[in-house]
Amino acid sequence: MSAISVPKIRLASGFDMPQVGFGLWKVPRDTAADTVYNAIKLGYRLFDGAYDYQNEKEAGEGIRRAIADGLVTREEIFITTKLWNNYHRREHVLEMAKKQNESWGLGYIDLYLMHFPVAQKYIDPSVLEFPAWWVDAERSAVALDKVPISETWKAMEEVVDLGIARSIGVSNFQAQLLYDVQSYARYPISALQIEHHPYLVQPQLILMAKENGIAITAYSSFGPQSFLELPEDFSSKAKAIGPLFESDVVKSLAEKYSKTPAQVLLRWATQRGIAVIPKSNSKERLLQNLDVTSFDLEDAEIACISALDCDLRFNDPGHYLVTSPLRIFA
Ligand code: NAD
Repeated sequence: MSAISVPKIRLASGFDMPQVGFGLWKVPRDTAADTVYNAIKLGYRLFDGAYDYQNEKEAGEGIRRAIADGLVTREEIFITTKLWNNYHRREHVLEMAKKQNESWGLGYIDLYLMHFPVAQKYIDPSVLEFPAWWVDAERSAVALDKVPISETWKAMEEVVDLGIARSIGVSNFQAQLLYDVQSYARYPISALQIEHHPYLVQPQLILMAKENGIAITAYSSFGPQSFLELPEDFSSKAKAIGPLFESDVVKSLAEKYSKTPAQVLLRWATQRGIAVIPKSNSKERLLQNLDVTSFDLEDAEIACISALDCDLRFNDPGHYLVTSPLRIFA
């Protein structure tokens, strides 16, 4: 068992979430069960999934195997997963939460997030199991639906009432919508998951979340790295900027603290109370990425890293949905 101890963040729901987890985006379905099982062996307890990642069932299998082998208990594991955009209507939220919970097979979901603040036309999963952003094979048309966020949020609260999820939250939301959801929420917004790295710091959004007791999880902590391997429309911005791992400030701090650039980038977030969910398939990197709360940067060093901010967003459907941009971050 790993000796690395990971702090927990108390969510507004009253439940605790580990501050460091494993992100499941792009983890291949055929290896996901083993990847998750091995990550648990190394000490990971939080897994960040989504319907859209198409590997919930396999990730759940890996966790169930680890529980059966006595490596962990269900209570020690924390599952985050997300509702995809095509299922924002009340009845579809309830249907998908049940279906996703059955896929994981762990009794309940710890944290259920609305993946994006945008509703797309319903597609019956029995017709097309995993819809992408586009409705056509040419990847040119995006079909929106007229569903207010309030309907989706209230249905997610019903998911809590049903005991399917313990905590609920949102992803890719900006402050204006967070204030709006708070005006009718019966249950608190426990977490906000956002793209957050030194090229996209969003200090005001982070401040707003903190002021309102909303825990923040950073995704794509390594900035361009995760997007380089994607098709051109998704990777063009990432290819046009230098890797964060190569930036002078990150490299010199890594040297100073005898850590890797990846660890410096993750510590930059965790030291400010933000949770991280890096993704890797290599054992050595998995261990590195988990060990990111045991050293401290100086305040001035954190500020130097933050000074790399250039408001550069890689996960932007206003950019990569080239023919039907959804400018949700405008
Ligand atoms: P990431 O920032 O974790 O980067 C992953 C890339 O960095 C991979 O190429 C990996 O090989 C490399 N890497 C990992 N550890 C490394 C190390 N120690 N040294 C060098 N290279 C290393 O990117 P991500 O996968 O985009 O984000 C993490 C997770 O966040 C995802 O898996 C997913 O769970 C979540 N996410 C959520 C959303 C959302 O819309 N809510 C969007 C993107 C990602």
